[in-house]
Amino acid sequence: MLTDPASDASEDIVLDTTLRPQSFGEYIGQEKIKRNLGIFIEAAKRRGESVDHVLLYGSAGLGKTTLAHIIAKEMRVNIRITSGPAIERVGDLGAILTNLEPGDVLFIDEIHRLNKVIEEVLYPAMEDYKLDIIIGKGPSARTIQLDLPRFTLIGATTRLGSISNPLRNRFGSTHRLEFYNEDEMRSIITRSSRILGIPINEEAATTIAKASRSTPRVANRLLKRVRDYAEIHDHKVIANDIATVALTLFEVDALGLEPTDRNILLTLAKRFKGGPAGVQTLAAVTGEEVETIEDVYEPYLIQLGFLARTPRGRIVTKEGYEHIGMDMPENHQEKLL
Ligand code: ADP
Repeated sequence: MLTDPASDASEDIVLDTTLRPQSFGEYIGQEKIKRNLGIFIEAAKRRGESVDHVLLYGSAGLGKTTLAHIIAKEMRVNIRITSGPAIERVGDLGAILTNLEPGDVLFIDEIHRLNKVIEEVLYPAMEDYKLDIIIGKGPSARTIQLDLPRFTLIGATTRLGSISNPLRNRFGSTHRLEFYNEDEMRSIITRSSRILGIPINEEAATTIAKASRSTPRVANRLLKRVRDYAEIHDHKVIANDIATVALTLFEVDALGLEPTDRNILLTLAKRFKGGPAGVQTLAAVTGEEVETIEDVYEPYLIQLGFLARTPRGRIVTKEGYEHIGMDMPENHQEKLL
């Protein structure tokens, strides 16, 4: 079974690095973002300045980290990578900022999880390239201000709504990454299989594309599992029958739903008569974290139209009932209005 479809298991981090596009040319889809960022980068280069701070948001595995790497590469600067939860103390942020070289990119993943005290230190750093540090405690405490090199902060988040307005306003541009369409997913899978050294035929690429939750990281993970399966069975090419058998073995259905997704739908349908049920209740009953349900499972179920989010809670839709092979109760449709 493949738990948490967009998680970062360690082997997947290695895989991510190998398969990660190195330039806008290799980065498939997200045309509007590429166009806009391309303009910002070109303009900044001409002026000999760093690119204005960039905020990227969208579901896990859609390519935010990859974009940050590409921006740094295009600007020919270094990238420092950290994440909101990793910066625990002001000193941690101070150490990172004072070690930056002029023009460097600082990438903060999960920036919505930065604590408030650190956020406040970040404001003057982003705006005026100054770092205020308090030395000592109590009455003898004093503040010193350090000049920082000009840098580009790239923040990534799955939850734009959890970012405070003052932080959001300090980004020069905000970009929303979209889910990928089937053609784009097929191109990503074909490109990845070339890099992994095993050819895949178009039909098989389509099957994996459909099961990849419109998300490149999921596509790469499934492709790798299917490749392993093909290799063990001495196939030199990934054909559709192999892809289909392997996905069934991994309990991934044709639309990319995994046991946890189905469990969420079934729990809602059976125990809560289709909903509405609050996400906390759903988390308790399915044994998943609230955040995992909200960030990983729900977006795709909603995108498929199987689940609806209403002010009173989550509700299974008609299509959701159809997918799990259950009849929709009478009057259920009214709950969706
Ligand atoms: P995020 O930071 O949004 O969670 P990543 O940037 O880590 O996502 O992307 C996960 C993996 O998916 C990358 O290693 C890369 O191989 C692949 N990927 C993401 N976006 C694209 C894309 N547009 N084209 C090709 N591969 C992509």
